[in-house]
Order: sequence, then structure tokens, then C-alpha cells
Amino acid sequence: MKIIVSAGVGALGLIALGVSAGGVVSGGGAEPATDEMLAVALAQDTPVVQRVQEPPPQQRRRWRYRNRYPGPIPTPEEWRAPDGPVRIGLQVGHWRAHEAPRELSRLRGNGGNWNGIAEWEVNLEIVRRTGAMLEELGYVVDILPAVVPPGYRAHLFLAIHADASNDRNARGYRVAAPSRDATGRASGFVDLLRRTYGAATGLRRLPDTTRRMRNYYAFNFRRYEHALHPMTIAAIIETGFLTNAGDRELIIGQPDRVARGIVDAIVEFPITPPPGHFEQS
Ligand SMILES: [Zn+2]
Repeated sequence: MKIIVSAGVGALGLIALGVSAGGVVSGGGAEPATDEMLAVALAQDTPVVQRVQEPPPQQRRRWRYRNRYPGPIPTPEEWRAPDGPVRIGLQVGHWRAHEAPRELSRLRGNGGNWNGIAEWEVNLEIVRRTGAMLEELGYVVDILPAVVPPGYRAHLFLAIHADASNDRNARGYRVAAPSRDATGRASGFVDLLRRTYGAATGLRRLPDTTRRMRNYYAFNFRRYEHALHPMTIAAIIETGFLTNAGDRELIIGQPDRVARGIVDAIVEFPITPPPGHFEQS
């Protein structure tokens, strides 16, 4: 039996306790532990209670409400490739965001624009071309709108966006991995993409990533129902600035080069080699 302790909001997240509680503690694995359950587990000298902090009652209520993934969070050691052919999920940032459910209502009406061109249109064109190149190589490609299906699973998920700024000189691309990556593999892909994207486009890489990227809603399976499966390797790219003429020349004017930069990283990533060359790693 597993007891899931909701151990405070934030980086600590959930702690799964492998407790054999001798029938005293009942309730499914999905139930957050009550104080009584925790007390029983502790009284029975349970081995793996670490850093359990009691949040103030109000905070805990909110956390329970937000916890959309009550099961034990898998560890990188537990990651294994999904069954079936190599599947790549490409998300068009902001596309069909007006369909966002209530939990993601703040997405509606978001996204940059320049001179009447909406960011999602630029993202969609890049995703189309990237998807076509990948399919030609034999990959299975899912094109996803702003709202991802609950628990979406693929070998790799990439959210594609473009930046916008009031400063027309702001330029460059950035790539980020989830701040909490249960797969332990996202940063490997991000390193590759940073290199291949720069090589294919000649755009400047911005060394910093934003909190909004690292905490992207689709990565947050604890908070949102419409989020990735924790074992989906994920990343997000801001392909360049819509509001900068030089960047626009690439991301709007030469979307094939943008797509090439993305495809090269996917092909090189050991977990998503071109189909036919698949080796489990
Ligand atoms: Zn965006």
C-alpha cells in the first residue's frame, strides 16, 4: 500500500511513502494522507519519512485542490520509452487557446503579435514544416494546440513559441527544460536543440530562460489536468522575436531553416533516433 503525503507546496512536491501499515491505514493510493494516517505511519517507525513539513491549514487545502496528479511521481530511473513507434508531440503555442478549459482560462487571448500577425500563425507554420520533415523520416507526429490532452504521452514533446517585446532590438532564441523534470532527460535534449537551432538559423541564443518557460503549464502535471504525462520528455523553444526585423526574416521568412534546426536535434537525441534505427537506451 502506498500513502501519498502532500508535503507542502512547491519544490518538495509529493513524497511517496512505501508503508506497510498492517491494515490500520486504509484508503486508495490516490488519497492524500490525513494527519491521523501520517501519525500512524510515523508511530509504526516507517522507514522513509523525509523532510515532511506541515504547511499551514489554508495552504494545504489549496494544495489538495490543485493536485491533479495524486499518484506517486515516477523517478528518472523508472522512465522507459512508450510502446510503439517514435512519437513526437509538437505544440503550436497559443493555437486555439480560446478553447482552454477553466483551469487554463488565463491562456485565452495570450500570445504575441506583430503588425497584425498573431504568434500562433507563425508557430503553426513552423510546426507544419517540422512535422512534415519528421514524417518523411518515419516519425509519428502529433500536432497539438495550446491545450494538451490530459496525461499526453509521447517520446518527446516540444512547445513552439515566438517572443515579442516593446524593444525592437530584443532578439534571439531560447530553449528551456521543465523546472521539475521527472524523466531526468529533458536537459539533454535542450542542450542539443540549443546547438542545432543556432547552427541551422544563425540566430543568437539568449543565455537566460524565463520562469514562464521553465514552469510552462503543460509541464505542470501536478497542477493541471490538461498537462503532459510526467514521463513525457518535454522542452519549450522561443524561436526568436516577432518584434525584431532580423529574427522575423528567419522565423517568418525562412521557416524551413527553423524546422531544420528542430528536426536535427530530434534526430540526434538518443531517445528519438529516426525510426528504423531505434534502440532503447
Ligand atoms: Zn508564446
